[in-house]
Amino acid sequence: MNSSKVCLECGGKMIPARIDKTFHIGDKEIEIRGLSGFKCERCGEVSYNIQDAKMIQNIINALNSNNEVDVLNLEETAEFLRVSNQTVYNMIKDGRLKAHKVGREWRFVKGDILAYMNAYSNESFVAMAAKGGKVDVDDLKAIQNELKERESSGDK
Ligand SMILES: [Zn+2]
Repeated sequence: MNSSKVCLECGGKMIPARIDKTFHIGDKEIEIRGLSGFKCERCGEVSYNIQDAKMIQNIINALNSNNEVDVLNLEETAEFLRVSNQTVYNMIKDGRLKAHKVGREWRFVKGDILAYMNAYSNESFVAMAAKGGKVDVDDLKAIQNELKERESSGDK
């Protein structure tokens, strides 16, 4: 097993760690203790093991999906995914995101958006979403590639 993980933020050494983390979801907070992952000894950046990252995302998805609306318009979808409207158009165009045209307007079913998010499930995406940061599709691709490399190197 390869244990030399490098911090994506500062290039420092990532040390295996148990992590307690508070996630902010809208005006709610949820604290998860004892997550397994790595912590950067230089800047304190954390990354979670894949299984835990997926668990976190499932929890966040479940909490998000309690927010009443099941059908979103384009702006709401962009806001939900924290991307630009143009990115959502691109995602419709190349078939990554299911969309329904009602008159001139696009409508999105929340379940489809969550399915899309699951397809791109990974720790960095979760971390960024939890921080309320912008995630663009190019970032997701880069993250996905990195994740694949990591999985194929047998580092879990
Ligand atoms: Zn670092």
